[in-house]
Amino acid sequence: MSSLPLAGSVIASSEMATEAASKPGRDFFKELNVRPFINAAGTYTMLTASLMWPEVMDAIDYASKVFVPLGDLHDAVGKHIAELVGSEGAMVTSGAAAALTLGTAACITGKNSDWIRRIPDLAGTGMKSEVIIQKSHRYGYDHAVRNCGIKMVEVETVEELERAINDRTATLHFFCDAEPKGKISAEQLTALGKKHNIPTFADAADVLPPTEHLSKYLKLGFDLVTFSGGKGLRGPQSTGLLLGKKHLIEAARMNASPNGDTIGRGMKVNKEEMLGLMVAVEMYLKRDAKAEWSEWERRAKVVADSVKDVATIKTEIYVPPIANHVPTVRIKWDKATLNLTADAVRKQLRAGTPAIEIVPASSPVASATQEINIGIWQLQPGEVDVVAARLKEVIKNS
Ligand SMILES: *Cc1c(COP(=O)(O)O)cnc(C)c1O
Repeated sequence: MSSLPLAGSVIASSEMATEAASKPGRDFFKELNVRPFINAAGTYTMLTASLMWPEVMDAIDYASKVFVPLGDLHDAVGKHIAELVGSEGAMVTSGAAAALTLGTAACITGKNSDWIRRIPDLAGTGMKSEVIIQKSHRYGYDHAVRNCGIKMVEVETVEELERAINDRTATLHFFCDAEPKGKISAEQLTALGKKHNIPTFADAADVLPPTEHLSKYLKLGFDLVTFSGGKGLRGPQSTGLLLGKKHLIEAARMNASPNGDTIGRGMKVNKEEMLGLMVAVEMYLKRDAKAEWSEWERRAKVVADSVKDVATIKTEIYVPPIANHVPTVRIKWDKATLNLTADAVRKQLRAGTPAIEIVPASSPVASATQEINIGIWQLQPGEVDVVAARLKEVIKNS
């Protein structure tokens, strides 16, 4: 594997590297032999998602030196975030997945302390025990909803949904990114929730940017909405945001840490993370989204242009419609004309110096058409040129 001569100089001139060099300290990742990489993928949890705003780290550092009553901080941070995004209530959770559990629990137990102790053992208690979801919205994260002991009831049409509703129905669940795949729109679902007096819950974990999405699903009438704190928001990775109706947020808080004997006791959020996510929301709303977008477009073009003169490949810049709504580069080729698999490109980029990770999802290796996707929004200053040069090298040397 050839290393890239260009890479060293570009990295050294980047803001981050300069800052790191001026602060002598332990090189923990080197000591541990854990290899950092350039993130040309996106906010993938396994790839440590996004980097926190420096202001978030300042808040974490600030909070780490003082004791405060945790409940008071939880109240105050929730109130401030709720005002910022235009929600009745808000709370910081230990991730969007935790918010799915706590929000669903809130709809099941309300503020009944006996029920809060007994969930997820719902049988014979009078607690609601079903969540209705569109078949096309089933996903890995619904395990966080099922943690409450409920049964998922799948429907496809409005008629089926209305037939499925009964006095055991706790919530109507909605996965925002799956909206185009389902027959029931967000508007229809919230209208049905209101008609039958059943809370609606939107999983919006990965739909930032754009900024408007922070309030979009509340405005559409969802009673609960969750966002991941460590993806687009750039807060601590182990935080999430639960927004929605005040009484539901209060019930979710009762189901959460630090309260013992609750379903959420293991979903602890410390004072540093609470403050950190609050500052991340502030920063997210304050940032120059227009400038950010033009920079992303520029980067996508740099990457796409680096290989556009290779006759055997097709390059395209696209923007996914709901989740990960950012310029993304797609490169496709026919295995008959370019003897290289997508998997091999991914491996070579990972093995190089510096290591580069691109979008993990892959087309089947055996397929005649090979495809790689490159996400540019988590790149740090200067890194796009490294990615473009290295990609060109891998593709041209094949
Ligand atoms: C990432 C994600 C989650 C989980 O978010 P965490 O903050 O990592 O707990 C839930 N739902 C969807 C759709 C996601 O993309």
